[in-house]
Amino acid sequence: PVLRVAIMGLGGYGGMVAQAMQSCTKAKLVGVISGTPSKVKAWQSKYGIPDKNCYNYQNFDDIKNNPDIDAVYVITPNGLHRDFVIRVAAAGKHAICEKPMAVNAKEGQEMVDACKKANVKLLVGYRMHFEPKTLEVIRMRQNGEFGKIRFFQGQCGFTIGDPAQWRLNKQLAGGGSMMDIGIYAINGARYMTGEEPVWVTAQETKTDPVKFKEGVDETIQFQFGFPSGAVASCLSTYNMNNLDRFFLDGEKGFAEMQPSTGYGPIRGRTHLGELNQPVTTHQTVQMDEMAEIIFNNKKPVVPVNGEEAVKDLKLIDAIYLAVKTGKKVEVSI
Ligand code: NAD
Repeated sequence: PVLRVAIMGLGGYGGMVAQAMQSCTKAKLVGVISGTPSKVKAWQSKYGIPDKNCYNYQNFDDIKNNPDIDAVYVITPNGLHRDFVIRVAAAGKHAICEKPMAVNAKEGQEMVDACKKANVKLLVGYRMHFEPKTLEVIRMRQNGEFGKIRFFQGQCGFTIGDPAQWRLNKQLAGGGSMMDIGIYAINGARYMTGEEPVWVTAQETKTDPVKFKEGVDETIQFQFGFPSGAVASCLSTYNMNNLDRFFLDGEKGFAEMQPSTGYGPIRGRTHLGELNQPVTTHQTVQMDEMAEIIFNNKKPVVPVNGEEAVKDLKLIDAIYLAVKTGKKVEVSI
């Protein structure tokens, strides 16, 4: 069957996912959930969405009685993900949620538990887990082509604009750059090395405390230690432009990717030469793969489930704790 999806949150990224889904073969956009009637109208005419598949934030629990929707993709501000996903699960629909899945590990675990209890799947929009050049580097690492991994470097950031946007509001964003873009370096450190961190250190720099208020991080550098002795050194920022670079170093070789997580073509090379796997539209591949995961229990190379997202959230919690205390934080994830 085709995965019939309703998108909740018709903003910038929701629009990008909707557009990309037009090229899917296994998933289809069939519904919307929005607080803005004019946007609902525009999406209905653009994507041929029937009135009976349109909901708002008050009445979307009724989706439980709609047999024509299989899954809801939550693409709202971060601070709203937890409650919305729990309501989707209670309505008996599969939940797909944007990153960061929640604003801390405790809330993330509540979402995992709610979906488990409702017997629905919970998947997170980790689009890089389906990107061909990324998957090639992971394959090479699994195949021992870099030798023993010693070091990962991940630098993720951009200069953020409008100070009034939700991304700079602690309540809606859950934090600052770490929640939005730093999570790519955290997640990347894990899938590039193939290990889970055992300790975290972190340091914050804030040049503009008016724009980046209490609890909204501007720039954080953080380090991970792994069981093998490998280390990672990462940077997350809202105040440096075009920072999108991964570097993986092993005893026999290396991989370098830049851009490493942007929407456009990913570029990279290893000690053996350029990575030349095909350029894909990330969200198209992600949604087709998610249909396979939901209907056929397909196992992706790197998981995209709620448990995977909770691991990233535990690391975000540890990074914020390390910033606050100035101490090395031991983690077990
Ligand atoms: P956006 O501001 O463009 O859109 C957010 C949408 O949520 C808007 O349509 C807004 O109307 C709606 N909304 C509902 N309730 C709201 C409230 N109380 N306050 C403010 N807005 C409310 O943001 P976006 O860039 O689309 O980001 C949405 C989510 O998608 C975030 O969690 C973000 O991290 C994630 N995202 C993921 C990627 C990716 O590559 N995977 C890229 C961009 C954004």
